[in-house]
Amino acid sequence: MHLQASKSIPGGVPSSWASSRPTPVWVSHGNGAYVWDVDDNRYIDFHAGYGANVVGHANPSVVAAVQKRVTQGTHFAQPTPDSIVVAEELSRRFGLPQWRFCNSGTEATMDAVHLMRVITGRDLIIKVEGSYNGHHDSVAISIFRSAEELGPADKPWRTPGAGIPQAIADCVRIVPFNDIDALSRLLDEHEGQIAGMIFEPILMGAGIIVPQPGYLEAVKKLVHQHGALLAFDEVKTGLVIHQGGATAMYGVVPDIICLAKALGGGLPCGAIGGTNEVMGAITDGRYNQVGTFNGNPLTMAATRAVLTEVLTDDAYARANDVGAYILKNAISTLQKHRQGVHGYQFGFKVSIVFSDEPARNYRDFLEVSTGAMHLNYLMQFNGGVFLAPWGKSESLTLSVAHTCEHGDVFLRNLSQLGKVIEQMSDRTSEVFAAGSFN
Ligand code: PMP
Repeated sequence: MHLQASKSIPGGVPSSWASSRPTPVWVSHGNGAYVWDVDDNRYIDFHAGYGANVVGHANPSVVAAVQKRVTQGTHFAQPTPDSIVVAEELSRRFGLPQWRFCNSGTEATMDAVHLMRVITGRDLIIKVEGSYNGHHDSVAISIFRSAEELGPADKPWRTPGAGIPQAIADCVRIVPFNDIDALSRLLDEHEGQIAGMIFEPILMGAGIIVPQPGYLEAVKKLVHQHGALLAFDEVKTGLVIHQGGATAMYGVVPDIICLAKALGGGLPCGAIGGTNEVMGAITDGRYNQVGTFNGNPLTMAATRAVLTEVLTDDAYARANDVGAYILKNAISTLQKHRQGVHGYQFGFKVSIVFSDEPARNYRDFLEVSTGAMHLNYLMQFNGGVFLAPWGKSESLTLSVAHTCEHGDVFLRNLSQLGKVIEQMSDRTSEVFAAGSFN
């Protein structure tokens, strides 16, 4: 199938992030915690479509909402009542009063950047090194690069992604995560020029890197002192790590929040929340936040079901139990096999990183063995567990259908992996490093 697909679809995949070694995985269907490939092999799914499917596959509430809506018309480019319920529920959870919708995380962070520029009348944006915030020009800067390509640690380059002019990258300034002094210096150097800062309050594309105590509060204070705005990219964290994302978990409310992924329960829904001041720029027409499919009726029906029926307080309590069980046992399993390991668990996310030292920023994370993580992906796959192919960067995502028994299969495979890698003295071999693709 991969060979046939490759003739008409570049790389044989609809998105380059769906690629994996040795071959992309073609999925036939899913149910609850499971997915089946086109050869009818069943896997426990901890990939969850890059963290989007915390409701589980074919969740009955989402299926019912979509089935009902699909018979009533799926596109008008006019508002439907479900969107009010969704906006009100997001306000309640995240503490920002006004919400607009879009179709992806990229669109949400693009709107955030535009809004920050429109409101302040300034051009420069600050983003965090190594943080993935979508694939539009202003944020696809200094991501997935080696340390050499990122420049000196104390004066990081702004390295544009392929196809992005340096002139656009030059409207961006890069700071390391968890470094408040670097941010302060940058804001002083560019007094009156910075529109705002956009970043993930927990860095999710590098295992999981948590903010140090007081970091988020300090960022908010500093950015505001310099007349700039603060946007949290909660595309990956929002609704997954906690009912109200990192915003509610840490109690630091920014000016703008970007959501997507888990929000639509498997349908393409993004959202952007803002203070009355920020969203006033949309209301009075200074910024046209637009999109033919924004607030699409099918998406809104699914999202309403996700927020009001599926991702309840009980669902988070269960996810925390299952997640804590997996993390605790994964750490002891790898330690038994004399492997360095640390990890985190928040709600539906579990991150297990093959290193003793928790990373503070992206450059620390580059030191973590890619090979071990890729081998884990392959051994888990052969043992009936589907992880996100970009093994080093990604974490495990649970769904409401996952139980500790599903975790036990993951843990058994991890023990096998431990046995194999504890005997590997040389991890620099080409075969082992082949995983650096991820
Ligand atoms: N922000 C973050 C933090 C993400 O992880 C992603 C996707 N991995 C995006 C933005 C972009 O979302 P999308 O792929 O829906 O455009």
